[in-house]
Amino acid sequence: MKRILIVEDNKTLAKLLARKIELSLEYEVDIAYKLSEAKLFLKKYTYFLTLLDINLPDAPNGEIVDYVLSKGNRAIVLSANIDKDFRKKMLQKNIIDYVNKSGVDDINYIIQTISRLEKNQKHKVLLVDDSMVFRKTMKNMLENLFYQVIAVAHGEEALSMLNVHPDMSMVITDYNMPVINGLELTHEIRKDYNKTELSIIAISSNNDEEVNALFLKQGANDYIKKPFSKEEFSCRINNSIEALENIQFITNHANRDFLTGLYNRRYFFENMQEYIEDVKESGEQFAVAMIDIDNFKHINDTYGHDVGDKVITSISEIIRTNTSYRDIVARFSGEEFCIVLKNINKYSASDILERLRQEVEQFIFNVDAANQIKFTISIGVALHNDDTLEETINQADMLLYNAKQNGKNQILFN
Ligand code: GH3
Ligand code: MG
Ligand code: MG
Repeated sequence: MKRILIVEDNKTLAKLLARKIELSLEYEVDIAYKLSEAKLFLKKYTYFLTLLDINLPDAPNGEIVDYVLSKGNRAIVLSANIDKDFRKKMLQKNIIDYVNKSGVDDINYIIQTISRLEKNQKHKVLLVDDSMVFRKTMKNMLENLFYQVIAVAHGEEALSMLNVHPDMSMVITDYNMPVINGLELTHEIRKDYNKTELSIIAISSNNDEEVNALFLKQGANDYIKKPFSKEEFSCRINNSIEALENIQFITNHANRDFLTGLYNRRYFFENMQEYIEDVKESGEQFAVAMIDIDNFKHINDTYGHDVGDKVITSISEIIRTNTSYRDIVARFSGEEFCIVLKNINKYSASDILERLRQEVEQFIFNVDAANQIKFTISIGVALHNDDTLEETINQADMLLYNAKQNGKNQILFN
């Protein structure tokens, strides 16, 4: 388990904070009451994060901060001191944040911050700025917040980087850059990614109010004006990422089946409508496979509905691992799935589905120590030609029916 180190001489506060962290997040927490103790802990363990009081019995002037940072750790400074100069001095160091520690709200803020940092690790951020100094500073700040950062010097490089990493969460772009400026870059990106898929933050040094408005009109989610404070930068970036996560969470729930996490029927047809349009132009071939579990009623009747549900989940995982992220895997009804294998010919489709059939056949589901279940699936597959989607699905459905009539545990093609 990952560890957090709290260095704080107020024992009550340290223990309260540690307990809160252990209760709401999955971390092992160590507490040091002095710099000397902290040094011992830091020798022994690697820490995800350290929370540091700047006023310790053996280090009264924030010495702990420099020590911890010099050892390559990330730090959040805790203090009751809100003196402006001291705050400024602290923020100049490479700390993540500076937090008050006077009340319950502050502790909640710390918990939220840790949980934010934890989630940040999953997000890729593309940083586009032609100034090397700014690029370095911002990259540093973002990495300190646990983001995965890719930094590039201009718009063209940014666009090709997006091709390589289509799963980018955020693009932070400067305005004035050679060849393609930030506005044009935003315009280009918005052709492929909407605001809820990829967040764009504009950095403008321009005093012209118009530029910021233009950025927003081109589809930027937010802008930050240079010069900015480290705190403002962190808060705006984190806020945008959080908004993105919230939207994606809601969308995901609307599009996916609750039990298996696979796409639901509604999303399947919505996504396919767009895809069919693309296919008309590109001529790309695809296959529709209808899959149904054989004798599933028997599993339900013998072991109960809950075990039946777990079997459905196991099969959906096997289907997922045997298909590409581009394919659409949907749960159509109880124990019936529909897959669209995109950009594929009959031979590859046959390979993939045959491997899938065999994997399910070999899979053993352990109900408990004494009971194991084995099961099989039948598959009907139709390759799409000039038919409508509905016709292709109907063909796959008919073939599935024939596969069942033929004795199950088999694949039939058109
Ligand atoms: P076949 O080989 O012909 O497909 O036979 P089967 O028993 O698999 O098919 P049938 O359609 O007769 O039965 C499917 C059963 O699946 C009936 C229904 O109670 C059950 N079922 C439907 N949805 C769910 C679900 O979400 N969870 C569970 N556990 N069972 C479900
Ligand atoms: Mg069935
Ligand atoms: Mg059925």
